[in-house]
Amino acid sequence: MVTTVEAVSHATRFLKQPKRMLVDGAWVDACHGRTLEVYDPALGEVIDHVPAGDAEDVDLAVAAARRAFADSEWSRMTASDRGRIIWRVGDLILEHADELAEIESMDNGKPVSVARAADVPLAADLFHYMAGFATKIHGQTFPISVPYAPGAQFHAYTLKEPVGVVGQIVPWNFPLLMAAWKLGPALATGCTVVLKPAEQTPLSALRLAELMLDAGLPNGVVNVITGFGETAGAALAGHPGVDKVAFTGSTEVGKLIVKAAANDLKRVTIELGGKSPNVVFADADLETAIPGAANAIFFNHGQCCAAGSRLYIEQKVYDQVLVGVSDYADKIMVGRGLDPDTEMGPLVSAEQLERVTGFLEAGDREGVRTVTGGTQVGEHGYFVAPTVLDGAGPGNSVFDEEIFGPVVTAIPFSDTAEVAAAANETIYGLAAGIWTTDLTKAHRLIPQLHAGTVWVNTYNIFDAALPFGGYKQSGWGREMGEEVIHEYTETKSVCIGL
Ligand code: NDP
Repeated sequence: MVTTVEAVSHATRFLKQPKRMLVDGAWVDACHGRTLEVYDPALGEVIDHVPAGDAEDVDLAVAAARRAFADSEWSRMTASDRGRIIWRVGDLILEHADELAEIESMDNGKPVSVARAADVPLAADLFHYMAGFATKIHGQTFPISVPYAPGAQFHAYTLKEPVGVVGQIVPWNFPLLMAAWKLGPALATGCTVVLKPAEQTPLSALRLAELMLDAGLPNGVVNVITGFGETAGAALAGHPGVDKVAFTGSTEVGKLIVKAAANDLKRVTIELGGKSPNVVFADADLETAIPGAANAIFFNHGQCCAAGSRLYIEQKVYDQVLVGVSDYADKIMVGRGLDPDTEMGPLVSAEQLERVTGFLEAGDREGVRTVTGGTQVGEHGYFVAPTVLDGAGPGNSVFDEEIFGPVVTAIPFSDTAEVAAAANETIYGLAAGIWTTDLTKAHRLIPQLHAGTVWVNTYNIFDAALPFGGYKQSGWGREMGEEVIHEYTETKSVCIGL
């Protein structure tokens, strides 16, 4: 059921302010003066407007980022001072946690309780973690033995240098957190940034940019251009002044990014879609596995690239787990994100609602059985009931494609070899889950799964220290952990004849 709430919002002050983009430390309108509408997806109503930046604005932002990278307070700053500013960004996020959670809830639709417990502290933690890296990025020395220079001596070492100006394009499912995942390592390595948030959810990135200036970030180091992907995003991805593009979003647009970047061979990292298998063995602790499997798909309304959307259940416990997950789905409180009782909010946009219900209708036409859910909820906003499907397989779009909504397809299996092969039958390879009390079985299955992350007896655990990214068409490169530092640095080998 859809519930409403009269929220006294910490975010009201921010929402009342006119929104501008950040370019070279100044808040500016789009060059041509156009704006785009920002919706509250729970109400389907316009709550704000932001500038609709375009190629011209991207030019100005990239020029500012280039200046800041080449010769500025930032480029001359010690790693220690850089780390202190990044740490301060994390502190300011925590100090403004309630406000940021409310902005995120109104803009994206997610429950404010979830944004407060997960998105906001994870974003702060990412900056705190990356702050420590600023002083720990270094090369190595090498004892080299050059066969064609007998008797000669050399001093050989590597330098790790920032890759340069980075264009960062982020999606709407975790707007603040995805911005943090990208900004943290860029700043730790000394890069400068032009960030483009998603058209649906630009608000938290603008508030974060204010906090970054408050933290002492020099002008031009981070620039934020709000606007549409086809215009501002495309201009950024192909801009000759950008050295690297970091993107999170659909596999379809990821391929466009790669093509745009190919022109001058920019560095590219892309974190894309998924259709992740979540495998429940009959020997699993079902009291944990059933809610675990439900949360694997229903967390963030299924708008999660790692969502466990293909639920493989061992035949012996198929009915029990199917009923358990369906009962769990039926009890989820669907409502406006600002309502403290809400457990699942609306989808992010009318477009996403149409997309998800389109998949459900296609499944219905093809004879896939809806165990529970399967429909839009309420007349206002973009709500879809938590949905469990049975009987889908290869050839059904609900089984093959990333739905990005609260929809799971359950599939029975009879042994480990069968489920390992089935789990990998997808173009994606982002994540996978295994539920079993037999750790030998789990350890044997883990290397067989083509996935960037495997969770065992848990799901959706993310941490700033743990790399995240995909195999196959789920992307290139990794976010977070030490691995992401390499994605934002070039290695320079130096060899000095002595
Ligand atoms: P997109 O891939 O279109 O959006 C992601 C980001 O890319 C947004 O900032 C978007 O801008 C931008 N973008 C769009 N087109 C271009 C372009 N030509 N050049 C550069 N940037 C561009 O995802 P959608 O919002 O359309 O969602 C569609 C599907 O994508 C979802 O149903 C889901 O399957 C998948 N998706 C996956 C995500 C993930 O975490 N891996 C996150 C979001 C979506 P703008 O929004 O302003 O147009």
